[in-house]
Amino acid sequence: MPVALVTGVTGQTGSYLAEHLLGEGWTVHGVVRSADDTAENAAALRSGVQLHVGDLEDPDGMRALVAATRPTSIFNLGGISSVAYSWTHPEETGRVTGLGVAALLDGAWQLHRNTGQPVSFVQASSAEIFGSATEIPQTELTPLGPVNPYGAAKAYAHHLVGVYRGLGLAASSCILYNHESPRRPAGFVTRKITREVARIASGLSTDLALGNLDAVRDWGWAPDYARALALAATGEPGNYIIASGESHTVRDFVEAAFAAAGISDWQRFVRQDPAFMRPLDATALVGDPTKAREVLGWTPTVSFADMVSAMVESDLKAISTS
Ligand code: GDP
Repeated sequence: MPVALVTGVTGQTGSYLAEHLLGEGWTVHGVVRSADDTAENAAALRSGVQLHVGDLEDPDGMRALVAATRPTSIFNLGGISSVAYSWTHPEETGRVTGLGVAALLDGAWQLHRNTGQPVSFVQASSAEIFGSATEIPQTELTPLGPVNPYGAAKAYAHHLVGVYRGLGLAASSCILYNHESPRRPAGFVTRKITREVARIASGLSTDLALGNLDAVRDWGWAPDYARALALAATGEPGNYIIASGESHTVRDFVEAAFAAAGISDWQRFVRQDPAFMRPLDATALVGDPTKAREVLGWTPTVSFADMVSAMVESDLKAISTS
């Protein structure tokens, strides 16, 4: 029976991954940072996941957790996930999102060597490792060029996964493009937009202040991306771009969100505020998921418009039931 150890299990994608694995008959161990973790998604995990207290900044603790739970697959989704936060906390981002992977990889390698049991490792990497990419769309062969502390930390982790794969560990790095859902925290632009659009449609607000409306992202449905991570755990070890392959601007997202709420004259509610502009922004991150499709058999199932609608509907429902 497969056994997973998942860091970041209470996050958006970690919670979807845990639910997916449980549904497939896995035993799931999840790592939380404190015993009284009250993260938003913890409720979804109450049934089934065995929670353990651990911190990616504590390498001995993480190694001990790997040895104690004896996973057949380790999924590393933990760490700082906000680019904006990484600018104000660059060292912490480096320690947690970058260096944190080292103890897990070493723990996996030791477990594999000591027991002879196969152990696979799946890193939730990020499109931010490409940052200033000149190539659009990006592939697994696009040179890395992070433009913020978060991307630099993820780039280190991505390389270290490759180092352990070279040693013989079945380690994969899934380069996840932006992935969204009703569980996305409001610090991300998508959820910020859908929450405010729902408030505007409900007569609770008239103002949506945003940064760069021309920023381009490749947005996909988070549960699809969680499924890709699960496929990578049993598929051929390697690097995989996990993306929709479609590019949209923040403006497109805004328009689609207002449309989903039945509002067409959206411009009167939206203003640009320099406070939300980034010092340096990755401007055109779009991935080519051909390899994931061909090698892992992964395809996204939810379109851009359906994803935006689902998020707006969820936020409208939250208002109507509150
Ligand atoms: P990221 O791709 O991981 O940085 O995810 P975000 O959802 O935080 O940002 C996506 C894009 O939206 C970036 O290019 C931001 O510059 C842009 N953006 C525009 N306005 C806003 C805003 O008000 N908040 C955030 N978070 N991003 C914004």
